[in-house]
Order: sequence, then C-alpha cells, then structure tokens
Amino acid sequence: MRIAIAHIGQETCSFTPTRTTMETFRQFGLYTGDEILQKMQAVGSIGGFLAAADEEKLVYTPVPVIQARAGANGTLTGETLLSLEAQLIDGLARALPIDGFFFSLHGAAAAENDPDVEGYLLAAARRVLGPSVPIVAPLDHHANVTQRMIGLLDGLVAHRTQPHLPFETGKLAAHQLFAILRGDIKPTVAWRKIPMLAHQEQFLTSRGPMKEWFDQARAWEAQPGVVSVSPFPMQPWLDVPEGGWSTVVITDNDPALAEKLADEHARMVWEMRDRFWVYESVSVEEAVQQAVAAEKGLVILSDTGDSVFGGAPGDSTHILRELLRQGVSQSALLPIVDAAAVQVAISAGVGSTIQVELGGKLAMAFHQPVAVTATVAGIGGGRIQAEVVGLESFNMGRAVLLEVGALKIVVSEYEGIGGNHPIVYRHFGIEPATAKMVVLKTASNFQYYENMASAIIRVNTPGPTMSHLEEFDWQQIPRPIYPLEQVTEFVPRSQ
Ligand SMILES: [Zn+2]
Repeated sequence: MRIAIAHIGQETCSFTPTRTTMETFRQFGLYTGDEILQKMQAVGSIGGFLAAADEEKLVYTPVPVIQARAGANGTLTGETLLSLEAQLIDGLARALPIDGFFFSLHGAAAAENDPDVEGYLLAAARRVLGPSVPIVAPLDHHANVTQRMIGLLDGLVAHRTQPHLPFETGKLAAHQLFAILRGDIKPTVAWRKIPMLAHQEQFLTSRGPMKEWFDQARAWEAQPGVVSVSPFPMQPWLDVPEGGWSTVVITDNDPALAEKLADEHARMVWEMRDRFWVYESVSVEEAVQQAVAAEKGLVILSDTGDSVFGGAPGDSTHILRELLRQGVSQSALLPIVDAAAVQVAISAGVGSTIQVELGGKLAMAFHQPVAVTATVAGIGGGRIQAEVVGLESFNMGRAVLLEVGALKIVVSEYEGIGGNHPIVYRHFGIEPATAKMVVLKTASNFQYYENMASAIIRVNTPGPTMSHLEEFDWQQIPRPIYPLEQVTEFVPRSQ
C-alpha cells in the first residue's frame, strides 16, 4: 500500500498589507521528498501520521510529496498558489499509483487568485488522483471550511485544543485514513455553516463557551457510529466570500446521524454566541501600569493587535511607545520586526549607540515608528532549532538585541515566531524568567512561558489582528453575519 503525504499550511490575515510568497514558505520550511520524513519525523501533523502508522504496525510505503508551511501572514500572491499547485501536482503524479493521500492543511489560507486555497489545492490533487483515492486532511480548527473542501475530502479532523497539538491532530487524521483504507469505516459527512464571527479573547478551549462547544464534540465522538466531530471557530481576520464558523460531523455510514449532530452542534454554538463577545483586554496605558505594579514577574503583555500567530507582521510599536512614555525602569523584553533597523545595528556593531526609527514600517495603517537611542548589545538570529507550533525550526532572519534603558528589544528581519518562545531571548543570553515583563505577539499561545509567568494581561492594541473586529473594513464576508449585524434568525444548513 502506498500513501502520499503532503502538508501545505498558511493562515491568511486579510488585514495584513504584506503578501505571502514562496520566499515566506522557504523561511518557515519548504521540503520535498525524503527530507520531509527526516525533518518532520516526530514533529507536527506529519510526525503524527508516522506515529499512527507505527502504532497500527501498518505495512505501507510512505510517499512524501511536499512540506510547505508559511505560518500566519498576508494573502498569498497568485504566483505563489500556482507554484504550490505545480509542486503538488508534479509530486503526486510521480508518486502514482497511490492508495491514499494524507494531506495536512491549515484551512484558512486565501490567495489573490482564489479565496479558498485549500479547496483549490484539493481540486488539483483530485485531478491527479481521480475520484476514488481517499483523501483525509488534518486541519486547524480556525479553518474556513468551504463547500468545495467538503466535496473533495473523504475525511477530516480539526485540532481539538487551542493552543493546538498538530502532532495529535495528525495522528487522529491518519487513523481515520487507515480505517477508510482497510474498509473498517465508510465515512458519511455532514456540515453546517454558522453565520458568526468572534474575536480571539475567548478562543482558549480550556474555558468558557469554547470549552463547552468542544466538550460536546468529544462527548459525541464517544458514541458508537461517530467517527469525528470537528468544531471550526474560524479565525477572525479572514475576509472571504464563504467566511464564517462551521462544524463538521463524520459518522460511519449513517448520514442521518451525521446530519442530526451537525444541526445540534451548530444550534448549540449559535445559542451561545453572545458569550464569545466578552473582552478581557485593557488599554495600553492601563496594561503597562498593571505590569509595573505587579508584585513579581514575569508578567506577560499580550499584544493582541499584532499577533504573529494570527498573521500580523510583528512590527507594532504601541506597547514600546507606552513603556517609554511611562519611563518603565524594570526589565522589559519585547520583540519587533524591522529589517532596516537590523541593518543599521549590524553596521554599527556590538557596543555602539545608534539612533533609529523602530518598527511601524509594515502594518503602517495601524502603527508608526518610534525614535529610540539604543545600545547594540548583541547580534544573532538565523534559523533556530526549536519545536514551536508544529515547526521543527524557525527563521528570524538576522537579528539584534537593542537596549533602551531597561528595555531589551530583539529586532529581527523576519517575524519568525515573534518573541513567543523564550529561546528568542535565551539566544541572546537573556533568561526571560528573570525579567519583570515580556511582550508576546499572540493572544492565545502562552504555553512556552507557562512555567515562569505570574500573570497575563491582554492589551487592547490596534493592528491587523485586533480584537475589535467591527473596526475592520470587511469587503468579502457573507452578510449578514453576527455580530456585524444582529442576525435574528438562523436555520442550520450546509451552505
Ligand atoms: Zn489555529
């Protein structure tokens, strides 16, 4: 038995002005052939696939096609989508004959020439493989599921948790694919689109309404005949024609049960919709005051408008400006993306003093540069080996450590992972646990600081990933949609 394996993943933020290109994919990791199995052996969804095959002692030939990740970023250029399609088609055509296809996707990618990247790539795969080869996809639960995706997939599994566990999702999807290939199950799929959006501040699956919705999915999965129940609270910055939340239920040859559960699951979250619209973020001024006044460190300041894991470019200056304005004298760590400032610092050299206009050069509609006089305290960067959000490494480009009073600023050419993992600071010889506060470019992925943080303060910052979704200029999303409009009636249906 021959199983093709591929992963093409990117999460598009429609409000980020920068574009995603093949160079972006190369920054995050673009591999073909056997290199995929070496790099992803124990990491991410492909690592999960390999582990599942081992668990089942599956006798098969893995045929790795492409591993392409680009994190979260702006819209893909048309050329980029065509290039990914060409590599996928070419790889699959060479891999034939194929019995099954494990195709790991994010689910919320949009390109200039197609707002449904995953549907587009699945259609390309089908053209090579034909209608009868099973295709199963592990997906991010922030995906925007489309009619085309549902029509082309035999099975799917969404992440069960936020923060995500891509390895575990890969395993679940692999087990589903193997069961289909053995003839143990005959998947019947039902789905419902739900006309709602919600901001990121209630997105953790460990609490609140999100936990209730996901717990219901787990409870149904324990029932006989239910293969998987996947809630999809779409990430809130995707402005596309089929945008919105959804739920997908897969049963074993029982379409009526799938339809019934999909209906109930859609209605359940619709009834809870107001509860997702509770804000926890505070103003920048108040956030910095709270961090300064905290009895002990390490206090996380979550820069909600500039989440690099949500697709913002990581060059916001709102918190930096406020730290300087309040004259904070306690140790504060923050990351910022600014290729020009990196060049200035490297040219000046370690130990020198430079004056730069820092940040605010990418998402210019939201942030402006801040003038600082800084000491160049270190030069580093490059590709760093660390498992973060399903990647085996990340590339921050060239990077420097700038000191401005008590502020230690890691300035990098690429957004990489923002400063969302302590290794970004340890790389420069700084232990974040000893600092008073750290700015993270995420509103949900605090797990890498879990064992050292005393408090998390969500900061209401403007930016491409801000929580106040009503302030964006939505163009494509189907209307009416809650809460941009008060949708009074909702009849669950497939599209
Ligand atoms: Zn996600």
